[in-house]
Amino acid sequence: MVQVETVRGPVDTGSLGTTLMHEHVFVLNEEIRLNYPGDWDEEARVADAAAKLNALRQRGCETIADPTVIGLGRDIRRIQRVAAGTGINIIVATGLYTYDDVPFYFRYRGAQRQSASSDPMTAMFIADITEGISGTGVKAAFLKCAIEEQGLTPGVERVLRAVGSAHAATGAPITVHTHPGSESGLTAMRVLAAEGADLTKVVMGHSGDTADLDYLARLADAGCLLGMDRFGLDLILPFEQRVSTVAELAGRGYADRMVLSHDAACYIDWFRQDQIAGFAPSWHFGHLFDDVLPALRERGVSESQLQTMLVANPRRYFSGPTRA
Ligand SMILES: [Zn+2]
Repeated sequence: MVQVETVRGPVDTGSLGTTLMHEHVFVLNEEIRLNYPGDWDEEARVADAAAKLNALRQRGCETIADPTVIGLGRDIRRIQRVAAGTGINIIVATGLYTYDDVPFYFRYRGAQRQSASSDPMTAMFIADITEGISGTGVKAAFLKCAIEEQGLTPGVERVLRAVGSAHAATGAPITVHTHPGSESGLTAMRVLAAEGADLTKVVMGHSGDTADLDYLARLADAGCLLGMDRFGLDLILPFEQRVSTVAELAGRGYADRMVLSHDAACYIDWFRQDQIAGFAPSWHFGHLFDDVLPALRERGVSESQLQTMLVANPRRYFSGPTRA
């Protein structure tokens, strides 16, 4: 049996079930939260997150992959407390989220590095995967990096190469935050491949933000998984276009190259909580089950294709290297 690490320990990949491949428990600016806690209530927020994940499980989702890494406020001890209150599997990540520079912590560490494999950042990512995170014993099961509209800045390139190198060393799969409007997934693909990445183990996150089928096919034809993972963020691409794009790609035989998710969070401090309902009323864990799956069925996407995107593709992604 192939196993994957979750917050509560390893589980068989065959038991992951319906898996949402890009959801956050918490997205926090931790330094700001510590200094300006406002109405933050730790116990209430942990209980609220567990309740939201339990509601998601009631809908039939058994696993979430949470790509919250450094830059997004990762705190595995807090996630452990949430996991203790929910039966859902939470798979956590290592990596670094930046659109431009690396944090100052890394600026001088590794400045003399000869390659990504000798970057101290790479060793930190590998330790999270092989030894566990911050003394908790909880192991990261995938890697996360980002390349936004700013493109391949020196900081972004350093992180992408470190992630590619950690992947090559461990076999842990990768999720990239991309910006399809600038086709940044193609750049990510080139850099990760140069570090020895198996592209069939790479989710090009936020690919669902575009309806550009040629761009998406280029990524999928190279082996990448397309993260159709921002359902509910209709201000970036409207619901109808998100759904039609998935249906069209499924019709062209790409169901085995897509995963579905919301990129939602139990709690995100980037916005006032009352703002979110205004700009993205459907951006919550129920949207896929209430609205997206029925709309995909209406457009001819079969049950077997839905199973492929929700169960089989995540299982394959977390089942270790495909290359000998
Ligand atoms: Zn995200």
